[in-house]
Parts: sequence; C-alpha cells; structure tokens
Amino acid sequence: MENTAWVLDKLAEMYPEAKPELNFTNPYETLIAALLSAQATDRQVNVVTEKLFAAYPNARALAAADVADVEEMIRSIGLYHNKARNAVAACQILMTKHNGEVPQTIDELTRLPGVGRKVANVVLANAYGVPAFAVDTHVHRVSGRIGLASSKNPLQTERQLCEKIPPELWNETHLRLIYLGRRVCRAIKPSCAACPLAAECAYANNKQSL
Ligand code: SF4
Repeated sequence: MENTAWVLDKLAEMYPEAKPELNFTNPYETLIAALLSAQATDRQVNVVTEKLFAAYPNARALAAADVADVEEMIRSIGLYHNKARNAVAACQILMTKHNGEVPQTIDELTRLPGVGRKVANVVLANAYGVPAFAVDTHVHRVSGRIGLASSKNPLQTERQLCEKIPPELWNETHLRLIYLGRRVCRAIKPSCAACPLAAECAYANNKQSL
C-alpha cells in the first residue's frame, strides 16, 4: 500500500465523526466496558454496563462486589464467568496498587486480569487521549484487505499501522476502520462495489486474498 495518505483522507471523508460505540463516561467505565466487550456486541455490553455502573459506580464498589452478583448482572454476554471474575479482580488491583485509579501505561494496564493489549489500547485512547492503535477483529481484517497491513497476527498489524500512520491519527483511524468493518467491509461479503476505498484497496483489486 503506497497511498496511505489517500486512504486516511477517504476514511475521514466517510466517517468524519466516528466515535466509540461502547458507552462510558470515565476511565473506570472505559476499562470495564472494554474488558466486557470480547465476543459480545457493543450493544449487548451497553445494556449490561448500564445496570452494572449504576450498581457499582467506581472501582472501590466493584472491588468489593460478590463475583456471583456481577455474573448475574452480565450473564447475557459471552464469557460472563471469566469477565465477572476479571472485572472484580482488576478493580481490587486498582484499589491496592493504583489508589483506585485506572493506570495510564500499557504495561500497567496489561498486568490487570482480563486486560490484553487491545483493551489496554482502547483505555489509553478513549479514557486518556493517548495515541494508541487498538487492533480488534475489524481493524485487523479491514487493514489487511486494504493493504495497510499484511500480517495474520494482530500485534504485527498494530506495529505496521503505527509505522505507516502518524500518531496523532491513530485514535480516529482506529474508530474509522471499525466503522468501515461494521458497515461496509464486513467479514462476509464486503460491499466493494459501494466502497469509496475500492480504487486503492488491495482486496478489491485482487492484489491479495485476506
Ligand atoms: S473495497 Fe472492499 S475489501 Fe476494500 S475496504 Fe472496501 S469493502 Fe473492504
């Protein structure tokens, strides 16, 4: 992909106002919503976090929760056993090691239970405005198809995207690629004929077959 700037401009035209589709209002909520989001839609997560954040409005409250009560509250989303245990354990660590605050470095974040690199990057970008490129399934698939990255491995994809794209554009480009992946470049049957990126897209031009 030689024309990264063209792709970024086109994405900005397509989705000038791309925003996170998970609901959160502070770093604690961002962390918990992101932690709950694996194998669940944002809409499903938003339904459970509305109740969860009302019952447990901060890390102190969730750290003291009974895991079984949290499980009951989030049981409509996938992996709820592990997610409930991890969310409570993560908040206990926030209380004992971080004064109840969500840390602002990827190393500290990824030491929390259930927090991988993708969740940590979502927290850094959305809670703190730190340039970070969270690579979820949409970002990985779409950036591979377009030709912005060429790896089977999300970590490598993150590195390749970060090399090609200026840091000040990471957060918004991440959101725009998710919008594209959900609305146009879906996993099955991407809508290439209607996609403004088709002229420069490797997949649409049969340059590769991701
Ligand atoms: S042209 Fe097709 S493969 Fe390329 S980004 Fe658009 S929808 Fe995806």
